[in-house]
Amino acid sequence: ISFTDFQLEESIERALESMRYEKPTEVQQKVIPLLLSNKDVVVRASTGSGKTAAYGIPLCQHADWLENKPQALVLTPTRELAAQVKEDLIHIGRFKRIKAAAIFGKQPFAKQKLELSQKCHIVVGTPGRVLDHIQKGTLSVDKIQYAVIDEADEMLNMGFIDQVKAIIDSLPKKRVTMLFSATYGEDIKQLSETYLNHPSYIQI
Ligand code: AMP
Repeated sequence: ISFTDFQLEESIERALESMRYEKPTEVQQKVIPLLLSNKDVVVRASTGSGKTAAYGIPLCQHADWLENKPQALVLTPTRELAAQVKEDLIHIGRFKRIKAAAIFGKQPFAKQKLELSQKCHIVVGTPGRVLDHIQKGTLSVDKIQYAVIDEADEMLNMGFIDQVKAIIDSLPKKRVTMLFSATYGEDIKQLSETYLNHPSYIQI
């Protein structure tokens, strides 16, 4: 199986070539077709498996460049991961001119507010700051069609459960939701049963 089997837009295939991604990793082989057909997924995979591109490629493919408001929201437990995911999305979406913003704590709110007021297809952020922007009206969620809960177990370990729930509750009901986690304990199971719609379960 190769990336050309997914019928990706030419601009995305070209970006993957420029990144020297030749062959999809196992998680990408399993997850990309499901996300391209808008299925909810629960994925048990850890860092290093290629999980970021497993959701990043479909998010960039689905993004409508003409829509100025955010269409996808990625939640991460840490600032470092948010920044890394944003970089990966920008690389994957570079020939499509995808705009991604990373918003996290310990960075000026006003600067993020400005970034969010401009064209932005995908928002990546940590739960506290993302919720803050939603509540203050500086992050518009009415066009969000894709939600990613990345490193869900870490997010819960760090005590972000209430913020994650409040964020997901504020999103449009008609959406695709993806949950990625290295472990799959009772709390993650409960989270996915509450917020995902008949998900496919994938374990790497
Ligand atoms: P991740 O698990 O998303 O943190 O990715 C781990 C590393 O693998 C990152 O440095 C990615 O750039 C790289 N990577 C992801 N997918 C591929 C691929 N299909 N081919 C080559 N490298 C990849």
